[in-house]
Amino acid sequence: MGSSGPPHHIIVAGAGIAGIACALALSRELTPYVPDLKITIFERHDILSTSGGAINLTPVAQRHLAQLGVLDELDRMGAEGGAEVDAIELYSMRSGRSIGSIDFVDHRGNGYGGYKGRRVMRIVLSVAMMTMVERTPNVDIIFGKKVVGGEESEGKAVVHFSDGTEAVGDLVVGCDGVHSAVRSRWIDPDTPSQYTGMSFLQANILSKDISSPVHFRSSALNVSRHGSMLTSFCDLDREQIFTAAIVQFSQEDLEYYRLEASQDWATQHQIRAALRNEMQDRFGKCSIPCIREMVNSKADWMLYPVYQVRLGGRWYTNRVILLGDAAHAMPPLDESAAYALDDAILFARILAQYRSEPLAEVFDTYERLRRDTINRAFKESHRMWDRNRDMSMLEGRLKEWMIPLSLRSRRDQREAAWEFDASKISIPSPAPSEDLVSLHSFLKEQTM
Ligand SMILES: Cc1cc2nc3c(=O)[nH]c(=O)nc-3n(C[C@H](O)[C@H](O)[C@H](O)COP(=O)(O)OP(=O)(O)OC[C@H]3O[C@@H](n4cnc5c(N)ncnc54)[C@H](O)[C@@H]3O)c2cc1C
Repeated sequence: MGSSGPPHHIIVAGAGIAGIACALALSRELTPYVPDLKITIFERHDILSTSGGAINLTPVAQRHLAQLGVLDELDRMGAEGGAEVDAIELYSMRSGRSIGSIDFVDHRGNGYGGYKGRRVMRIVLSVAMMTMVERTPNVDIIFGKKVVGGEESEGKAVVHFSDGTEAVGDLVVGCDGVHSAVRSRWIDPDTPSQYTGMSFLQANILSKDISSPVHFRSSALNVSRHGSMLTSFCDLDREQIFTAAIVQFSQEDLEYYRLEASQDWATQHQIRAALRNEMQDRFGKCSIPCIREMVNSKADWMLYPVYQVRLGGRWYTNRVILLGDAAHAMPPLDESAAYALDDAILFARILAQYRSEPLAEVFDTYERLRRDTINRAFKESHRMWDRNRDMSMLEGRLKEWMIPLSLRSRRDQREAAWEFDASKISIPSPAPSEDLVSLHSFLKEQTM
């Protein structure tokens, strides 16, 4: 790159949504210009992770997954490929009444730019993305490789792994999530991940085990003053309900509730029972019968602490850049995966358009196009997230009254965001190089 042209060997750290999307997008954008392009993804896990429950994909996320060929794969998987979500309905757990909805369809029932929402198990999404990797000849994935640091020298970037080996590339893209080693041990050690003070308590419940009528069409966010509880079908046949409570949890409590494979049976049993009690204390008095049933069921609730990366951190050095949660993890509100996909597609387009420019210019252009959007999203996610903190009865009532107003006032903004297409936004042309400028001035002088 720069003096040596576009990168030929690109290393991607992390095989999550950002990492795989980035590899697929880079392959698509760069292959026409770099026939010997090689992209290697290094993932710390030995196999695809099965944890994490279900994820909501907004219309933007679906559009971008369609561009990468992943949506077709999900559709091909049939019932497992996820449940279509027309809207996330909001209910008060206190009164059981509907208090609004976040619609993924317009007034005619059409999705935004042709796409609605979808709730799909994370592992299913990962399998669909992996299938696309297998079909892309210049993208490889190597499991069981944990990045622990790296350095840049003589126009190359060297990545170090925990097993003592290393890999050398022209460009490294750090897509290794919120606790990114590429960020914390290489690009920006001053920006560690921080616990948000909030956690998810998640479980999958079989619909057949719930005898009360289900109050939502496909997805609902049930709000209370002790946190919110998401309930959503996550398969086409509606056999499974994914439930996730968003609740305040102190850092000290995290230690107490942490389940580890190394713990003995009795300790694990005690933690599971304590998490069940936590759910019952918070939501056991809910006036929606099916929620009460879920909360009082024998479901095993898993605790997922939510971390973030503070705003304003460094995103790149000379040959390394961060994308997705590694750069800007924020409290997730159904949209974070979309930001990771936007990052990947936009970065790949800029790199292709600036293929004759130094990497510094590619990175600068990317940051100029991206930073404000991310900062706005981060602030918005904090505003929304704060509503799930424990509150007094009066604050809880106020929250319920404010939700419909806030949904209405932000509707246009939300709909505009769902129309966003990273494959279409205009990228400024690279500034002409000094040689070209002087040639241009020379020719101009000659004709005068
Ligand atoms: C509980 C929870 C629920 C969420 N729900 C939603 C939702 O409904 N909708 C939504 O849009 N977003 C949701 N999000 C946010 C969303 O999951 C993330 O924004 C998205 O996964 C970011 O993708 P990523 O690829 O940047 O990071 P990740 O998905 O975290 O992927 C990082 C990858 O890097 C690997 N890795 C980590 N460290 C290393 C290392 N040192 N070396 C090599 N590999 C490494 C990891 O194993 C992983 O495969 C949720 C987040 C949480 C925590």
